[in-house]
Amino acid sequence: MSGFSPAGSIYVDGAWRDASGPAIDVLDPATESVTARIASATPDEVEAALASARRAQGDWARVGSVARGAYLRELADLIHANADRLAGLISLEMGKPAAEADGELEFAEGLVRYSAEWDRRLEGEILPGETARENVHLLRAPLGVVAAICPWNFPLAVLCRKLAPALLTGNTVVAKPSEVSPLSTLELVRLIDENLDLPAGVFNLVCGAGETGGAMVTSPHTAMVSFTGHRDTGKRIMAAAADDLTRVALELGGKAPAIVWRDADLDLAVPALIEARFTNAGQVCTSAERVFVHSELADEFTERYVAAAESLVVGAASAGEGVQMGPMASAAQLQKVGAAVERAVGEGAKVLTGGGPREGDGYFFTPTVLGDVKPEMDVMREETFGPVAPIIGVDSLDQVLGYANDSRYGLSAYLFSRDYGTVMRAVEDLEFGEIYVNRTLGESIHAHHSGYKESGIGGEDGKWGLTRYTQIKTAYHRYG
Ligand code: NAD
Repeated sequence: MSGFSPAGSIYVDGAWRDASGPAIDVLDPATESVTARIASATPDEVEAALASARRAQGDWARVGSVARGAYLRELADLIHANADRLAGLISLEMGKPAAEADGELEFAEGLVRYSAEWDRRLEGEILPGETARENVHLLRAPLGVVAAICPWNFPLAVLCRKLAPALLTGNTVVAKPSEVSPLSTLELVRLIDENLDLPAGVFNLVCGAGETGGAMVTSPHTAMVSFTGHRDTGKRIMAAAADDLTRVALELGGKAPAIVWRDADLDLAVPALIEARFTNAGQVCTSAERVFVHSELADEFTERYVAAAESLVVGAASAGEGVQMGPMASAAQLQKVGAAVERAVGEGAKVLTGGGPREGDGYFFTPTVLGDVKPEMDVMREETFGPVAPIIGVDSLDQVLGYANDSRYGLSAYLFSRDYGTVMRAVEDLEFGEIYVNRTLGESIHAHHSGYKESGIGGEDGKWGLTRYTQIKTAYHRYG
């Protein structure tokens, strides 16, 4: 084993403890070698972490949002100062090329700074009462303990997206990274422990897989589960949380349609959709998973898109700056993507480039473009979450909006057109929470990231994401 020695795998009440659940090997997906071994938290250990967060919560709420904002600024500075090391660990644990890992750190830091800016902006309301000498205060109160359950594809960005608004609004947190990519999170917690004077119990960490996560959901200490991950896991969490009516915020998968309309600028659309499909080896919830091109442009678009996909430099992050696409994060992910392509080919799709895993070590999949696809094929309906772009020709706006909306998912959509009417019609009719017009993927931290339909419940970022970690308390004051 080589690579990384975590300080521990449970951080509770301001101290590291040993976990006694099953060991998990963390692999470098570029080489398949084990880089670290961590221990899972048992349900009892999870309960202890949540109880510690519960004990700390009242004082944390009383400390006030200005003091909490100051802690978050220190956290942002800490992330900034250690960005290279944290980015290196993200590349090691899930294969992201260096430039993308750097970008993730920048985003994570931005999310923390943005939440900190709310320290003097949390507002309530004062309403006149119904009788004389009476008024009504609507106050923003924290929820209590937030269980933050994270996926492997953006380990630190997703963690900070939950941690920062939850802490700023007076909640305490128990977080769990994915068992596939826990190292950057463990390192961030070590840095927090050594550098930030956070009161004990305000932020806690447990590691492990589904059983550990499940215990976080069903504990009576948990007031809210903030989950990002697969649709089916989200459904299981919602069902388990129902017993105690624990709140859930679920940020789930997507099957983003990308529409390249008749008047699209292909110099813009081709590189934008290459980026929107192959960033993070296609393992992004907002990836352009299915491409619809107006039939007048379909041949030219496809030719240029295939050439661009073939020119992508695929390799390990350690190979340096020039690498544009890394491996799949795990063997399971590689297998899943391969099976999706095989199924599509079995149903009649044609491989225009790529089509399978790369020879040699590591979970690399060649950038793949599929033609001759039909809207009813699985590859057009289920999230592939890999570097596979199916392209289909379309003729009318009604037809393409119908295809786009005929999906269980509703997270993001892309549209390339220079016509105002087409753009406005699509923005109005697309049943997706996030629409990118004439640009590639990448949400803004002050906007709102939310999925419609089976892509989630809740939404993160911006004002609406932050206030989701609060509840309104109403106090009636009679002073006459
Ligand atoms: P996953 O659902 O397999 O795992 C996510 C987390 O849930 C992990 O920490 C895992 O250990 C935990 N978990 C598993 N079973 C659990 C259970 N029964 N109870 C509680 N926790 C449990 O997802 P993944 O493979 O890590 O992530 C990929 C998925 O995440 C994709 O579908 C992707 O689209 C989605 N995603 C969505 C967003 C978004 O913002 N909408 C962002 C990133 C990823």
